[in-house]
Formats: sequence, C-alpha cells, structure tokens
Amino acid sequence: MADPSVHAAFTSVDTALVWFRRDLRDHDNAALFYALKHAQRVYCVFIFDREILDALPNKADRRVEFMWESLVELKQSLVARGGDLIVRHERADGAIAALAQQLKVNAVFANEDYEPRAVARDARVGEVLSKQGCELRLCKDTVIFAKSEVLTQLSKPYTVFTPYKNAWLKKLTGFFTRAYPTARYQANLAKPPFACALPTLEAMGFARTNLKALGLQPGMGGAAKLIADFMPRMGTYQAARDFPAVKGVSYLSIHNRFGTCSVRELVQAALRQSQRPRDVAEEGTGEGAAVWLSELIWREFYFQIIHHHPGAASGNFKPEYDALQWENDPALFTAWCEARTGFPIVDAAMRQINQTGFMHNRLRMIVASFLTKDLLIDWRWGEKYFADHLNDFDLAANNGGWQWAASTGCDAQPYFRIFNPQSQSERFDPEGKFIRRYVPELAALPNKYIHAPASLPPLEALRIGFELGKHYPVPIVVHGVQRIRAMAMYAAAKGESGGRVAVAARQFA
Ligand code: FAD
Repeated sequence: MADPSVHAAFTSVDTALVWFRRDLRDHDNAALFYALKHAQRVYCVFIFDREILDALPNKADRRVEFMWESLVELKQSLVARGGDLIVRHERADGAIAALAQQLKVNAVFANEDYEPRAVARDARVGEVLSKQGCELRLCKDTVIFAKSEVLTQLSKPYTVFTPYKNAWLKKLTGFFTRAYPTARYQANLAKPPFACALPTLEAMGFARTNLKALGLQPGMGGAAKLIADFMPRMGTYQAARDFPAVKGVSYLSIHNRFGTCSVRELVQAALRQSQRPRDVAEEGTGEGAAVWLSELIWREFYFQIIHHHPGAASGNFKPEYDALQWENDPALFTAWCEARTGFPIVDAAMRQINQTGFMHNRLRMIVASFLTKDLLIDWRWGEKYFADHLNDFDLAANNGGWQWAASTGCDAQPYFRIFNPQSQSERFDPEGKFIRRYVPELAALPNKYIHAPASLPPLEALRIGFELGKHYPVPIVVHGVQRIRAMAMYAAAKGESGGRVAVAARQFA
C-alpha cells in the first residue's frame, strides 16, 4: 500500500517523540506514522496538562477517567509493539521541552489541534523546542480536510454548511481516507531509559466516576465495539436519529473527541454503506449513511470555522447580535441547570446530561433554544455549562451548536425560528418514553399530557394522585409570551424595532 503522504516533506531524524493529545490510538495515527517512518528511535508521551486539569471544576470528571483508561490500553498496546508510553501530570509546554532535551529528541511529532488555546500552546512549545534545536512537526489527523483545504471559488473560507459540504464531498478521494499503516515501521518504537508508570487518578487529584456503571467503554477497544454496534444501524440513521428514546445514533462522539477511533475509518464506513447496492431484505437505505456522513462533515465545518474565526470562541459570530440585551436571570438559569423548568422534555434532557454526561442531539437543540429564546439567557452561559458537563465536549462543535441555536452563529437558524418545547416533545418523544426514563415522577401521566403536565384535567390528576407544583414544578415561563419577547429582543438588537413583533412584545413588557 502506498503511504498517504500528505506531509511527505518531513526529513529523516535520529530520535523523535510522539506527543499524543486528542488522538489516543496507535493505529491509523498520522503523527505516530510519520514519526516511525522518519526516525530511527521513537518515544511516546501523553501529558495530563495541569493548565487544563487544574481548572476543571469537578474532580470526579468522566473525561479524565476516560482518558486515563484509554491511556492504560494505549500503553499496553505500545509495550506489546516494543515501545512504551511516558505519562506525566505537568504543564504540557514545560514538560515536552524538558523531555525532548532529556531524550535528545530531534523532532516532536503531534497531530494538529484547532482550538485557539491549543494553537497558542503549540506555538509556545514550538518556539521553546526550536531554541533547543528541536522541531515541532504537526500533522493533520483529526479531520479529513483541515483549515483552508476546502475553500470557496474565491478562496474564502465557507460560512454556510451546504456549499461547504458539497465542496468537501467533491474534493474527497480515496487518498484522503486511506489509513496510516503505523505497524509498518513499528520496529522503530523505543523504550525510554527510565521507568514510566502511569500516575494514578487519585495522585492527580481526581476520583472515579460512574463511567463503568454507565457502560461507557474507553479506548480503542471501546470505540471498536461502538463502531461494530452502529454499522448495522447506519442504514436507518436518518429515520431514527431524532428520537432520543430510540437507539438511533452512534454515540461515538466521546471517541471522536479523544481520537480513540480514526475519522478516516468512519468516513470509509459511511462511504461504503452509502454506495453499496441495497439488499432487498435490508432495512434502511444508503441515505442513512449519507446523512451520518453529513454529521461528520458538520464536525469538520465547525473545526474550520474556529480556525478561521477564533473570535467566535468567545463572541457572537455575527456581530450584529452583540447588541442583544439578554435578561440573564440567575434563578431561571439555576432551574434550567437543575432540571426544574416544568417543561418535561427540557428537564429530562438536563437530567440526562447531569447523570450521564451525554445528551442526545435533538435534546441539545431543544434545551439550547429554550435557554436562549424562552429564558432569554446568553448562549455563553449554556455553552459553559455544556463544556463542564459533556463527556464529548469539543469547543468547535459546542460553540457551533450553541451559536446555531441562539441564531448568532455562521449558518444559524433565523432568530424568529423558535422551538416550541411541547410540540418538539410531542413530535420526537411521542409516547413520552424518554421523559419517563429521566422524570419518573411523571410516569403515571397519560401520553397525551406528559408533554405539558399543566394541561392534565383536574379529575385525571386526582385519579393518578398527581399534584402540579408538589410532584413536578409549575412551568417557570409561559412559552407563548417568551417567544414574542425573544423576537422583540432579537429585532431590537438588529435595529428592527418597529412592526408587529415589537407591538406584541410591549404587551408583555
Ligand atoms: P451521531 O449522530 O452518531 O454523529 C456522528 C458524529 O458526528 C458524532 O459523534 C460527532 O463527532 C459528529 N457530529 C454529529 N453532529 C454534529 C454537529 N451538529 N456538530 C459537530 N459534530 C457533529 N458535539 C460534540 O462532539 N461535542 C460538543 O461539545 C457538542 N456540543 C453541542 C452543543 C449543542 C448546543 C448542539 C446543538 C450540538 C452539540 N454537538 C456537540 C453536536 C451533537 O449534538 C453531538 O456530536 C452528537 O449528539 C453526539 O452523538 P453521536 O456521537 O451519537 O452522534
């Protein structure tokens, strides 16, 4: 097989260090492949970066445990191939430079990370290394197309998804999805001249979580199981993906986040299924695979957005919304965080994230719309809450999702498109199965009323012994009123203060 030599320009060196970050696998890994190919002696390292870890508010963090478990597996795998994995709990910038010096490394290989803070860190590390006569070599691995590889005909970055997707698909050839055959040069893996035991979670100040109880399997093994589980379901993805009570999605996002699987493998699988002639007995269509591939392209779309517009990480992508007068009521925000809004689908979703660290995509859209357009709270508050709680937290996707829901983003829904939580619930959880799973106090309500318990007729409430306000909160806002107030808030920010919306909004001021 030919080398997928996107980075063929690397010169050969004597000793290299592979710095694993969000790519915790030793198969189909670009940085590892190029290091093995271009160096005679290759050491491997992962740094639990104190700059990031010390800032985490919760010291029982599933993501840290997931990484730790994944590293145990990665280390075993590297040892079996004749190498090892050095794991440190330090600040990454200092640790990499010190190790490079200690191991007399000529080049450090790592895979590109597109988050603004990571880019700044890599620039710092690269500078220190170059003063030591060592080179930081960054490879593309996390995505099929990075940074400016997919541009408009005017050589500008895309800010609208559909044309980006079309251009992405047009550019795609087998070359870009070919796996990096790391095993080919694995004889160059070396063991460091010192013992390198993994620091325990406890030694780093972290505790075990409910990761295992949730059945969340870390590492390359965990990813492989999920991929195998999803393959036969990919054909029905399009039909099933919007229903949180149904096992319709892949649940691979945490593996995509930590790189325990390769995006090339996923894209290859989607292409195979979308192009495969369909067996008559088979469920679903190639459309399921095509829609799933679109989701992987959304992921890349947001990576290139954050690369070209790093300011979007903290501010509105569309500056015209800087004038938005968010109400930011802390009591309403707390009710949202604590799943006490009185809107069953919102509360069920918030309990899902609070208990498991995962939230179904449809629900992410519903709760984000609810926070911004029903509670009139700045999307950055919700974005931060998700960043602290999501197992799959990824700055680019999270920021993109929040700005989409808040209508401040690049290819966002228009501000006047406001989800009605009740009709979303009726449509995507018609029998209330998901609500019942997470809000068992509503379990006895008939399907017809479970989406809006306030509509339960008094006699029916008496019959099942349900009292609104006692067993479940009264809704904290009136959706119809908030909808109009939200439209007025957005219209005012855009300078569209006249018209019917503003007149209607004045009634509720
Ligand atoms: P699948 O439906 O199986 O999709 C396959 C993969 O495609 C996912 O694993 C993920 O890597 C990628 N993907 C799917 N949808 C999107 C999307 N809209 N944008 C970018 N990538 C996508 N995704 C994250 O990975 N991290 C986040 O922090 C994150 N925050 C979000 C916040 C909001 C407000 C919204 C609306 C969406 C957010 N998403 C985020 C996108 C999406 O909700 C999750 O990727 C998806 O729910 C993960 O489940 P899955 O792996 O089963 O996805």
